[in-house]
Amino acid sequence: MTTTQLSSTAREAHPAPGRRLVPVSAIAVLGAALGLAACRPAQTLADPAPGKEATSGKAKTMNTVLSKSGYDITPLPKDEVARLAAKLDPEAYRITQKAGTEPAFCGNLLDNKKDGVYTCVVCGLPLFSSEHKFNSGTGWPSFFREVDPAHVTRKVDRAFGMERVEIDCARCGAHLGHVFEDGPKPTGERHCLNSASLKFLEKGAPVPPESQPVKVETAYFAAGCFWGVEHWFKRGPGVLDAVSGYMQGHTDNPTYKDVCSDTTGHAESVKVTYDANRITYRRLVEAFFAMHDPTQLNRQGPDVGDQYRSGIWTVDEGQKKVAEEVLGELKGRKVYGEKAIVTIVEPAKTFWPAEEYHQEYLAKNGASCHVKNPW
Ligand SMILES: [Zn+2]
Repeated sequence: MTTTQLSSTAREAHPAPGRRLVPVSAIAVLGAALGLAACRPAQTLADPAPGKEATSGKAKTMNTVLSKSGYDITPLPKDEVARLAAKLDPEAYRITQKAGTEPAFCGNLLDNKKDGVYTCVVCGLPLFSSEHKFNSGTGWPSFFREVDPAHVTRKVDRAFGMERVEIDCARCGAHLGHVFEDGPKPTGERHCLNSASLKFLEKGAPVPPESQPVKVETAYFAAGCFWGVEHWFKRGPGVLDAVSGYMQGHTDNPTYKDVCSDTTGHAESVKVTYDANRITYRRLVEAFFAMHDPTQLNRQGPDVGDQYRSGIWTVDEGQKKVAEEVLGELKGRKVYGEKAIVTIVEPAKTFWPAEEYHQEYLAKNGASCHVKNPW
């Protein structure tokens, strides 16, 4: 499901009365760019099911792409690739960003015989393993297969009057080398690499977060109208996905109309799926408080009603402890002066995904509501 596919539905939807909309075209552009990530073949992100999950089939947005081996291979936005590439030495920059080739027999990993993993020098994604390395005699590090086929993309390269198959990093697009069909069994392939495209992580050495598989966890927050809350959570570093829905009510399969009637007890809520190796639950709770005004009872800005209450719906004792700690710190520091924080912390009940036209609403409609960018 892509942002583009959803937008035609969204155009027909009208914002609820009383919701103030501020055009911010940059948000739409950013959202469209991130939406492209859904075009890759994806493994369905397994819900760790800390609480119940309603499967009404209403919303199925997922912008994060995981490989079968559990790594985040969502293509990085161009500005993020540029930021990472700016840290490279000139040779690694030339090879990975300009499709260069290092001279034969010169790379520092050609004769490396240690056990370990070869990761992308730009983004850290594991690409090749010492288990599959062999001496091809060509002068470049050679492997007979990738550590996971989804981590390396292939495209035809017709430079220099030849037709070769270029290999690139699936996450950041870094040029790695070429693959030829003259390798050893069992694949018969020879992945011919530039040492400068790779960073070697020896077995037993610390593995940086960007080179680890995703550790999927889930958090639920209510901070008023879910459009903006979902929008900003989705953009958090280490956040895999955010989905708008309804929680903590007493009816099954509620619709937006039901929830707005103030009779079902549901709060507009956002389900945040995140990589616990890259962002902590505490950081999410801090972002939740930074995003909205937790002193407003049953309202946020122009939206009034108990469906807009401020709440943290926890999935276990660990989350409850962290949420209450952060709440206690904010109270202790009198961050909101004499005003009381009315945020509720309670165990998460069933999450009912909201209708599709509510998902990625701000990105699709170029509008912004009450919440602030907490990142
Ligand atoms: Zn990469």
